[in-house]
Amino acid sequence: MHFGSVCSGKSRTGRPAIDLLGQRFGRLLVVERVENDKRVDRPTWRCACDCGSEVTLHGGALRSGRNKSCGCFRRDRAGHLYRKHGLSKTPAYTMFYDARKRAQRFGVPFDITPDDILIPKHCPVLGIELNTGPREAAASLDRVRPEAGYTKGNIRVVSFRANRLKSDATPAELRLVLDYMEGRR
Ligand SMILES: [Zn+2]
Repeated sequence: MHFGSVCSGKSRTGRPAIDLLGQRFGRLLVVERVENDKRVDRPTWRCACDCGSEVTLHGGALRSGRNKSCGCFRRDRAGHLYRKHGLSKTPAYTMFYDARKRAQRFGVPFDITPDDILIPKHCPVLGIELNTGPREAAASLDRVRPEAGYTKGNIRVVSFRANRLKSDATPAELRLVLDYMEGRR
């Protein structure tokens, strides 16, 4: 059996398989139609996961949203169950560690723990999805008031882009910049 004309392959119901080629489901990119999964006899797709692994899944599993990675997503979340001290190598721990170094270098207050760093799915400033690849979308730890340092209640996770745009500006300065950009100055 070959799949030269893959997308004319029929699903279990006899209807043509829905073409998922090239579509993205979470971390998975559909790269090829393969022979139907024998157990369920449904259109089956080979998917490349962002982590570098591959997995084959039937279309229903992809479209239902049940499978959004090769399994690495669940492993990432469950990682703290078997890692040495809980948070090593998680994004929050990396951000914690980097912030501690910056706090020492710049002499600003620091009293947070990795548990204080909550990474939302989207940047609360710009709305873009965090940690999707581009540097500008990387999660970044913002000091709400820069001089107050990395302290409980003064940190938020935003996109690198939002953090870069804000930099160390005060609200009054940003209003002046906005006035300038919109032609009022
Ligand atoms: Zn994966």
